[in-house]
Amino acid sequence: MVSARITALVENTVGGRELLAEHGLSLWIELGPKRLLFDTGQGKVLGGNAQRLGVRLELADAIVLSHGHYDHTGGLADALRSAWRTTVYGHSAAFGAKYAKNPDGSARDVGMPFLGGQKVREKADLVLVEGPTEVCEGLRLTGPIPRACDFENAGGAFFKDQGCAEPDELVDDQAAYIETSAGTVVLLGCAHAGVINTLRHVQSQTNGRAIHTVIGGMHLLNASAERMDKTVAELRRLDVRRLLPCHCTGFAAAARLWNEFPGRCAACPVGTVVEVPR
Ligand SMILES: [Zn+2]
Ligand SMILES: [Zn+2]
Repeated sequence: MVSARITALVENTVGGRELLAEHGLSLWIELGPKRLLFDTGQGKVLGGNAQRLGVRLELADAIVLSHGHYDHTGGLADALRSAWRTTVYGHSAAFGAKYAKNPDGSARDVGMPFLGGQKVREKADLVLVEGPTEVCEGLRLTGPIPRACDFENAGGAFFKDQGCAEPDELVDDQAAYIETSAGTVVLLGCAHAGVINTLRHVQSQTNGRAIHTVIGGMHLLNASAERMDKTVAELRRLDVRRLLPCHCTGFAAAARLWNEFPGRCAACPVGTVVEVPR
């Protein structure tokens, strides 16, 4: 394994001087000679945070989109403007219309702003991910994740149309992972497929290798008590060494995980650097 580390460029929280937070996620991955951007946040703070953290977005060899929601793709236009030469990886559904239903029945647009696949192609190579995909040596994408667990769901009222007639199962949702001798390091966007479905799918692609680290959004803010209990039980069974539940995980869910897995959880504010074991 080449050396690797992950830097949080965009996250919902921040603790450092001259860094800014927003509701969103973007992780910078240095993997041997490669530089990869996993999600782009909403785009309001990506460039500034990158500059202050000494991250050169122009060097991004690849930009991975975990799914199409605006808080992961809003910075794509800026990232593409910065990048000298890059390849974008995302499922075709990530470029489709996406809405969330409000409690009063109205809908709000939560899709990718400004860009369609065609516009991406004007700036970069575009790889439409349909299944397990290698981005570069050491980093792979799960592609669409089977929804095998009966206790997990997409985590909200998501639809493909403004009238909220056609549910959006977020088939575009995918995770990235790095295999190391200590176990697999998994990067989640929002885990709309469910964090346990995601980890099981990663294991199915890695000969059952142990999961070492899970970093990213777990979208458990609407999770039922039953789902939380089963998620905790499965994470315990998987014996995950290090958890960085952040972004859309939800405060109560994150607090539960911190209590259930003492010494194994960490926060992930903007500027956090996670060393990947070799
Ligand atoms: Zn999302
Ligand atoms: Zn999100």
